[in-house]
Amino acid sequence: MQTATAHASMYQPASFDMQAGDWVYRGEGNANILFAYIGEGSELPGQLLRLTKRGVPQNTDINADDSDTDDSSFNKEQEKLSLQAHNNVVFTKEVIGPLIGADYILQHQLVYLSSKFIEQLSLAAEPLRPSSRTHKQIDPMQRVGALVRDMINVLELTPKQPGEHTIAIEIKPKWGFVPSSKYISQANSVKHRVCRHCMHQYLKHDKDSMSEYCPIDLFSNNCTRVKHAVDCLFDVSNDRLRVFVDGTHIAGDENGGIDVAKVPHSQQLKQTIADIILAEKLLPRLGSVQNRLDVFDIEGLFPRYKRALEAGVLTEKEPSIDDWLEAAARFRQREEQGGSNVNAPVVDDKQAALEFMISVTLKDVSVLIRIESWPSASKSESESAEGDSSSAKLPEYHIAVIDADAKKLAKVPKYLKNDQEIVDRYLETNPNVAQQKACCEQQGEKDI
Ligand SMILES: [Zn+2]
Repeated sequence: MQTATAHASMYQPASFDMQAGDWVYRGEGNANILFAYIGEGSELPGQLLRLTKRGVPQNTDINADDSDTDDSSFNKEQEKLSLQAHNNVVFTKEVIGPLIGADYILQHQLVYLSSKFIEQLSLAAEPLRPSSRTHKQIDPMQRVGALVRDMINVLELTPKQPGEHTIAIEIKPKWGFVPSSKYISQANSVKHRVCRHCMHQYLKHDKDSMSEYCPIDLFSNNCTRVKHAVDCLFDVSNDRLRVFVDGTHIAGDENGGIDVAKVPHSQQLKQTIADIILAEKLLPRLGSVQNRLDVFDIEGLFPRYKRALEAGVLTEKEPSIDDWLEAAARFRQREEQGGSNVNAPVVDDKQAALEFMISVTLKDVSVLIRIESWPSASKSESESAEGDSSSAKLPEYHIAVIDADAKKLAKVPKYLKNDQEIVDRYLETNPNVAQQKACCEQQGEKDI
C-alpha cells in the first residue's frame, strides 16, 4: 500500500525568491488564506500562495519576544506545520484525486517561506481582511506554503482582442445526492425526499434570501435541469456561485443575485457553463462518490464512530495521512471487487468513519471553471440566438476542484447535531408532506 512517507520526495518544498511586495491578498476561508502573485519574476506568474491560519490567542503574550519561547517547542511547531502543508497536498492529490479523476486536481508545489516574509504579508493583508474572518490570523510559525495555479487572475501576457474577457466561475455545489441509507430513522425519512441543501436553507436563510437552487439538478446530467440550476445560482447566489470577469469579482445585485449587467453576454454564459458541466464527468462522479462514501448516513455512522473511540481504534488525535490513504485505498479496492453489498458494506468502524469524513470533504469542495476568452468566436456569431447555443462548440476552458482538504474527525458529534437541526427546522416550517419539495434523482443516472 502506498504511504505518505514513500511519497515524501515527490513533495519536497522548493525555494523561490519570495518577496512580500510581489503578493496581494486574494481571499480566505476558515482554515486558509490566499495571496496572488503580481511580481515580475519569471517563475511565479499565475500562482496563488496558500497559507494556513490559526486562532488568535486570547493571551496578549503573542507579541512577546521570541526569546521567551522555548527553542525546541518552536522548532517542533514549525515542523508540525510543514508536515501539515505537505499532508494537505498529499490528501488532495492522492485521496481525493483518484475518486473524482486526477485531471480535476490542480498541481500543488510546496515552497519554503521566511518568518520575515510571513510577517510582512500579514501586515499588508490585515486592512483588507473581512472582520468576520479576523478571529484567526496567518500562522506566524509556518515555514512552508503551497503554490497552486491561479484560476481567477488574468496575466497581462496574453493580449486580448477588444471586447474579449477572461471569465472565472466558482461554484460550491454541495451535496449531489438524496440519501437512500437504510440507517436513516423513520422520523427523519424526509431526508429520503428533500435534499440536504434544500432543507438546510430553512436554517441558514430567511425567506427573502432563499434560493431555488437544488444541487440534485446541477448533478443530474440532464440538460434542462443543469441549466435551471445554473440560472438559479445566478438569481440568488448565496455564496454558492462567484463570478469573476478579467479577475474582478462581480458583486451581487440588490436581490442577492449576480449583477448580470456587469457580466458580458450573461445569458450565453449561463448556457455555456451548463454545457461545460454536461460535457465533463466531474459532477456526476462527485455526487456519486459522495453518496457511496456515506452509506451509513450520519445517523448510522455516529454509533460506529463512538464505538471506534471506545475501542481505541480512533482517538482524539486526528487521523494521520497514512490513515486517510489506507482508507481511500480500501474503499477503492472494495468497489473494484464488486462492492459486495453497496448498501451494507462490511467495513470496520474506523473505516466507516474515515469514509464518511472523505465524503464530508467532497460535499464541501468548490468547482472552478475558467474560460480563457469570452465571448468565443463561435458564440459571437450566434449572438442573436441567445440561450439556444446547445449545439455551439465549447470555448477553451479549464475546470478543477479546489478546497479538498481533510476535515476534522472531531466534528462528527457536531455533524449529527447539525443534521438533526436541519431536519427539525425543515419539518417545523414544512409540516405538510404534500407541500414538501421532492429533490429526485433520475433513475439510472447514478451509474457513472
Ligand atoms: Zn434539493
